[in-house]
Amino acid sequence: MADITKACRDIKELSPLAQIACNLFMAECKKAGLEVLITETYRSQERQNWLYEQGRTRAGNIVTWTKQSNHTGRMAWDICKNVRGQEYSDATFFAKCGEIANKLGITWGGTWSTPDKPHFEINKSWKAQVVEDDEVVEKDKIIVDGKEFTVELIRKDGTTYIKTRDIAEVLGLKVGSKGKIPVLDKK
Ligand SMILES: [Zn+2]
Repeated sequence: MADITKACRDIKELSPLAQIACNLFMAECKKAGLEVLITETYRSQERQNWLYEQGRTRAGNIVTWTKQSNHTGRMAWDICKNVRGQEYSDATFFAKCGEIANKLGITWGGTWSTPDKPHFEINKSWKAQVVEDDEVVEKDKIIVDGKEFTVELIRKDGTTYIKTRDIAEVLGLKVGSKGKIPVLDKK
């Protein structure tokens, strides 16, 4: 039998559905530059009971409020920040991870009335969702008639979108509007 004092960190020990959710979550966190380390996935009931005893019938701080955990059902995983000395101290890190989980329809323990910030879980009705990348407005140069201009733009699917006000500026036009419609006129 597995050592009940040791946490299992293997994503493959989660249910097939939770594996998809966890891998998606990890990929999105990585994209966002968050250094996430999985600290526990599946937990045997024996280990859950053993953890429950901590701070109750065994010395130590209380680490769990329940004997019924979604870890034992292979639907939950715990994380920490993969930076030595900052594993649990960076509230912003956990909030950002929670935001990503929320976008993916994954429950973050940080939203509970007794928050459990390192904890993430799904239920059986979870469905994989595609996260749309937030379009990033960048400042970059364009050249018009040999002259360089700096404009604000968004690159998406091979197309560059330039801010109307900036393109007006570049072309020497004045910009107005008719309701929601931008109007460009000769100065
Ligand atoms: Zn947990």
